[in-house]
Amino acid sequence: MNWYYASGGEKLGPVDQGAFQRLAAEGVIVDSTLVWHEGLTDWQRYADTEQAMYCTECGKPFPVGFMMPYGRSWICANCKPRFVQKIREGTLFAKTLPYAGFWLRFGAKMIDGVIMWVVNMFVNFFLMGFIGLRLRNPGGALAYMGTIYSFQFALGVAYETIFVWRYGGTPGKLILGLKIIRADGGDLSFGLALGRYAASMVTNFTVGVGYLMAAVDDEKRALHDRLCNTRVIKPQ
Ligand SMILES: [Zn+2]
Repeated sequence: MNWYYASGGEKLGPVDQGAFQRLAAEGVIVDSTLVWHEGLTDWQRYADTEQAMYCTECGKPFPVGFMMPYGRSWICANCKPRFVQKIREGTLFAKTLPYAGFWLRFGAKMIDGVIMWVVNMFVNFFLMGFIGLRLRNPGGALAYMGTIYSFQFALGVAYETIFVWRYGGTPGKLILGLKIIRADGGDLSFGLALGRYAASMVTNFTVGVGYLMAAVDDEKRALHDRLCNTRVIKPQ
């Protein structure tokens, strides 16, 4: 069946059924667009046609007024609540996303550990050269240690948060091609990256159990991924 449609006061077409559905999916043809095909007595609003779209969830055809567009797919009103729920929980992508496994993530942690170890070595030498060697009393030494630990802690927070926020992963993860995403597939905001770091400290308190969760979880989530609703993937 060939369709005609009105756009900007012009009559366009004919387009075949497949092209017509694509135009609708791409938003060229919207609910208010006037359309016509042979056999119709008059032009109709697209939303009023009996034009059936296929629901990507249940596979059944419905009139377009009964459907909600999602990207290039259409979801029927029956499936919509379940579909929205799936988006919210992040399970929509469960079968399609290449989640990074435990050993890859373990490797990334090791690389980050080495990088931070080297950085901290430099920090220690630097601070010791400037402050440490001038210390004469025990109180000063304690303050010195406190300074070093605070500095290293701040450095650890900045390293993780800024890299995850700007690049989707720490250098260790980036080297191994891993990326941290939100459940809905989006990038992490600065706040969420910081929150995920705080959550990973909770994971650290579990003495490895929180990390091992990634090995058995169906979406390979560590404890802090569950807390922050994030996922670690390895894009192909
Ligand atoms: Zn459906």
